[in-house]
Amino acid sequence: MKLKIFNTETKEKEILASQNGKIRLYTCGPTIYDFAHIGNFRTYVFEDILRRAIQFFGFEVEQAMNLTDVDDKTIRGAIKKGITLKEFTEPYRIAFFEDLKTLNIQKVEHYPAATDYIPDMIEIIETLLEKGCAYRSSNGSIYFSIQEFSTYGRLSRLNLIDLKPGASGEIEADEYDKENVSDFVLWKAYDPARDGNICWESPFGKGRPGWHIECSAMAMKILGETIDIHCGGVDNLFPHHENEIAQSECCSGKRFARYWMHSEHLLVDHKKMSKSLGNFYTLRDLLKKGYTGFEVRYLLLSTHYRTQLNFTFDGLSAARSSLQRIEDFILRLKAITSTHNTDPSDLIKKADHRFRSALADDLNTSSALAALFDLIREVNALSDQEKIGKKDAEQVLELLASWDQVLGVLPLQKTEEIPEELLSFLEKREKARRERNFKVSDEMRDAILEKGYLIEDTPNGARLKKQ
Ligand SMILES: [Zn+2]
Repeated sequence: MKLKIFNTETKEKEILASQNGKIRLYTCGPTIYDFAHIGNFRTYVFEDILRRAIQFFGFEVEQAMNLTDVDDKTIRGAIKKGITLKEFTEPYRIAFFEDLKTLNIQKVEHYPAATDYIPDMIEIIETLLEKGCAYRSSNGSIYFSIQEFSTYGRLSRLNLIDLKPGASGEIEADEYDKENVSDFVLWKAYDPARDGNICWESPFGKGRPGWHIECSAMAMKILGETIDIHCGGVDNLFPHHENEIAQSECCSGKRFARYWMHSEHLLVDHKKMSKSLGNFYTLRDLLKKGYTGFEVRYLLLSTHYRTQLNFTFDGLSAARSSLQRIEDFILRLKAITSTHNTDPSDLIKKADHRFRSALADDLNTSSALAALFDLIREVNALSDQEKIGKKDAEQVLELLASWDQVLGVLPLQKTEEIPEELLSFLEKREKARRERNFKVSDEMRDAILEKGYLIEDTPNGARLKKQ
């Protein structure tokens, strides 16, 4: 089975093919001036699923996710606090990695920070100036001239005539200084009022790189001039990714990315998340409210990445119950001791085929989860008829473990060490209840309670839980 992904540039699902067995993946990372919010994490969880799926379908991955540690926001923050850029960004960098861990997002091969690649950015700008694709404005900033790149707009399919002033980059006071309203800045000339003492020397004077050039420089330096997949949130599509294409391709003369993928927006209660609306959540806000990283991950991956995700607390509770159902199922399988096996391999094959087909179809995670819940239903039904033995249960658990290489969210490690004696009490209680022998069933219940355990009646049958 081959993995198909939706390429934003062609607007078609395409079979992912590698050039040499390896997929080089570039994902736009966070600006480390604050804690990342759940909208950011929707994108990072999607990219994690993509990374895991690429491996699941047999490729090797080399991924780079950049950390933007120099831009207007980080500079403003550092100046306000009267500390260096590094001192300002470092706590957010550390927090970001903690958050990735909380969400069980795999570590990638490279996390380049923009400030470590400034010479590479300068080199690209020099090449662009030499090639006549960039020009120096009267205030000393260097701009990219979009009319020198004939296919500008091909990714976002925007017409240049539609572009409004400022559309292609940060809104700047020196807008009038550009030859064309949509030209974007490659190098910002030093402005002591704005930049404090944060600046770098370059052949075109003191200053700092524009945001777009950062990604082009790091992507090409680390992964090569033509990368395989470039990802980001849909809000990065224009102008950021469009500008990355223009400056990279003008510089190298080669195609910049073979596939482009974008995840849709996350809304909160059907509204755009914003601090002023009071519906703005970082991952940390949700943890403080008692939710776990796994619950948030489950919620974020349960909607297909190209569908808008409407975040609600009801949705988060539903994610919690879904995970609980999966956990009940896993614990039930682990508790099976019967040697009466019936070999459910046909059922397993069918379920696995459904799961893989869903993923292969542009990472359809919601339909992959539907395959999981159908499997749970079917195996539970067999289990109720005592048709699942220990070996059968192990086969099902193995299947779940293989799926979890992509999902990264199943509670497979959960075990409950419940004393044998109590399990036999529970069995006797269940038997007595079936036979409507309430005297014995009550005695067994009391014996269990006395040992400090509770009986939980779940859709998958009764189980014990420590009080
Ligand atoms: Zn980027």
